[in-house]
Amino acid sequence: MATSTEFIDIKRAKPLEVDPAERVKDWNEYQKPFSEKKIKQQASRCMDCGTPFCQIGLNINSSTSGCPLYNLIPEWNALVQQGKWYEAYLRLAKTNNFPEFTARACPAPCEGSCTAGIPSDPVTIKSIEKAIIDRAFSEGWVKPRIPRKKTGLKIAIIGSGPAGLTAADDLNQLGHSVTVFEREDRFGGLLMYGIPNMKIDKSHVQRRIDLLKEEGIEFRANVNVGVDLSLEELQASFDSVLLCIGAEKPRELTIEGRQLKGIYPAMEYLTASTKHYLQSSSEPDITAKDKRVIVIGGGDTGADCVATALRQGCKSVIQFGKHGKLPLRRQKDNPWPENPHVFSLDYAYEEAVHLFGEDPRQYYIQTQSFIGNENGEVKGLNTTYFNQDDQETRYWEADLVLIAIGFEGVKDEYFQTINRSNNRISTTTNSYQTNLEGVYVAGDARRGQSLIVWAIQEGKKAALEIDHFLKAKKITSEQC
Ligand SMILES: Cc1cc2nc3c(=O)[nH]c(=O)nc-3n(C[C@H](O)[C@H](O)[C@H](O)COP(=O)(O)OP(=O)(O)OC[C@H]3O[C@@H](n4cnc5c(N)ncnc54)[C@H](O)[C@@H]3O)c2cc1C
Ligand code: SF4
Repeated sequence: MATSTEFIDIKRAKPLEVDPAERVKDWNEYQKPFSEKKIKQQASRCMDCGTPFCQIGLNINSSTSGCPLYNLIPEWNALVQQGKWYEAYLRLAKTNNFPEFTARACPAPCEGSCTAGIPSDPVTIKSIEKAIIDRAFSEGWVKPRIPRKKTGLKIAIIGSGPAGLTAADDLNQLGHSVTVFEREDRFGGLLMYGIPNMKIDKSHVQRRIDLLKEEGIEFRANVNVGVDLSLEELQASFDSVLLCIGAEKPRELTIEGRQLKGIYPAMEYLTASTKHYLQSSSEPDITAKDKRVIVIGGGDTGADCVATALRQGCKSVIQFGKHGKLPLRRQKDNPWPENPHVFSLDYAYEEAVHLFGEDPRQYYIQTQSFIGNENGEVKGLNTTYFNQDDQETRYWEADLVLIAIGFEGVKDEYFQTINRSNNRISTTTNSYQTNLEGVYVAGDARRGQSLIVWAIQEGKKAALEIDHFLKAKKITSEQC
């Protein structure tokens, strides 16, 4: 902090984005970098306030406050302000294995609990994180770190999302031999197939996988564990197994007409779109081109569907949410340092406003039934607007319906010998150990559908626990 009042004197700068009119024409990332002068100015707004609430990483009132990775935010803010970019990178990399992902797609609960947000606006922490990691890559500071010593112990990780990749990284650095098994043709989990390219360009995911490979981690794609290879086979050939299989089971809408053609779970649609983008095939398996699209579900996955449909050239797009519109400012029952539940015009909605002149979100809508044509294709749906005593019903025309109402948890077909509770893989309190000795779980499979930043935290904690388990096992076997 240069003087003491920058957080008031200098206004928070809104993260820079490509103009909506331009960005809807392609699939490139929509976030743009600040100039060096501007980002240093923004970093100088940090008050280094003594108790850094931005780092607390706690769940308060069912939502995240502060950074779950306990990122050393005031430290790197000061280093950026002084132009010490390399040192800032070292501090960032100390707690965050993959800042290139969080700096692009994290909802930044750190900013919601930033102390500067009480009298003024929070520090633009996420943009500063992005400036540090993008600079580190462009300067060539992010190099493969080949572990000097190997322990000879082997770990199998199932699933290559952020939890699996983090655990693989940490366990490899501890000298263990790690093999990552992935059912898909590409690695990265939802970072690859799920989060659209406009939010995280897939070249960033591949760049990190290539680095991890250079560091000695083995990656095996197209292996569906439980089908192509059993868990028991992995237990027999590895010293420990870690399940990072995500929470992929979509929540279903079991109403009349669900079987009609043209109705898909959001993930099927988003995955098909990214596969099409990466393979440059002529048409995606599911497309919104020239269609009237309705997205059911008011969350972030629904927003990604809206942005994808716009880029595919939909005729119109509407998104139903069952909750009301959020207030413009924090309410009394949502005080700092809680994550603020306030209205925002996210990237997808800004683009829809630009193309169609209005926000696509409709509030308090409950879908009652789907209506089909003589070919068994969806042609519309009936809804109820339920914020009124006399519940108003309405018919909407649609050619493509995307269901984005969340995820129930781990898919049913996997790993029946492992205990579950509420569709999550169970562990004992504060542990990552399942009911099977040596078999661990981390990420969405353990905590339910969450955030990249929590998946990274889980991957780190599970890796430490596995390391302790392996060391204890080694000592016991040496004593025998
Ligand atoms: C559409 C969408 C958008 C999102 N956007 C954001 C965002 O902007 N910001 C954010 O912070 N979070 C976002 N999230 C949430 C975030 O992506 C997840 O919380 C995070 O990826 C969870 O990481 P994970 O490693 O636990 O699991 P995942 O990323 O789900 O990875 C699990 C992997 O395991 C593999 N797998 C499963 N079963 C097997 C098996 N039997 N054998 C082999 N491989 C298997 C899967 O193929 C997958 O690759 C989004 C989620 C979705 C669905
Ligand atoms: S990882 Fe997320 S919560 Fe942590 S500092 Fe970065 S943007 Fe903030």
